[in-house]
Amino acid sequence: GVQIHKVQDGLKPIETIKNIIAVASGKGGVGKSTTSVNLAVALAQSGARVGILDADIYGPSQPLLLGVKGKPELNAKQHMIPPKAHGVWVNSFGFLVEENRAAIWRGPMVVQAMNQLLSLTEWPDLDYLIVDMPPGTGDIALSLAQKVPVVGAVIVTTPQDIALLDVRKGVSMFQTVNVPVLGIVENMSVHICSQCGHAEHIFGQDGGKALAESQSIDYLGGLPLDIKVREQSDGGVPIVAADPQSKISLIYRQMARRL
Ligand code: ADP
Repeated sequence: GVQIHKVQDGLKPIETIKNIIAVASGKGGVGKSTTSVNLAVALAQSGARVGILDADIYGPSQPLLLGVKGKPELNAKQHMIPPKAHGVWVNSFGFLVEENRAAIWRGPMVVQAMNQLLSLTEWPDLDYLIVDMPPGTGDIALSLAQKVPVVGAVIVTTPQDIALLDVRKGVSMFQTVNVPVLGIVENMSVHICSQCGHAEHIFGQDGGKALAESQSIDYLGGLPLDIKVREQSDGGVPIVAADPQSKISLIYRQMARRL
């Protein structure tokens, strides 16, 4: 069943969207977008109605990850109709701005664009809207977390110490704006050699798990570094859709069940 979380004090929930969940990371390149899209598709596979809002202004990648081309069409009210792929409705900063321009935006513009993606998009009734946040815990992430009625956050990290330091900042950022952290996802937690099966902890071991424990936050699980994840992503078919029976897809579905 779909859970309904509570919106932070002072913000009005969006009536047609039950749960807005932010997927965040301390820094770029840790797999935040990959995790967002696979969790979204996994939720949709479980029967939930799911949208994904790509707010990663530095590299809006959700249209690519979902294999969506072209911009959303407008209805008579000039609202954007979000395209649907792999069971998930999507809208993205990438549709609003020209490539390579978004990264120079300042905070207030981003918040404004985010509001457009929320209110000027004809989202259908949704159980979950997954927000692929801008990386980091800077002004932009903070103002989004303050202005959008987010019910919870998932933080993605690699097991490296340096990444974990950033996670601590992420946890305290969400705590500052009273958004509960629903859990930590450790991505690229181990590399399994596709030739010999040897497991190697390239970025260290269990750092995310230890951090989650020390901060009393749920550990949602760890995902291996696997070439199939990247290949499927680049091909516009998230691994949970491409290979739902794989071990990795199972991990994503287990994580999704806890949202
Ligand atoms: P972020 O959103 O944090 O910047 P991405 O999700 O874009 O990170 O991931 C960065 C790169 O790493 C992408 O090329 C993606 O396909 C790849 N990647 C992410 N997670 C994995 C994984 N578990 N195994 C292999 N490649 C991965």
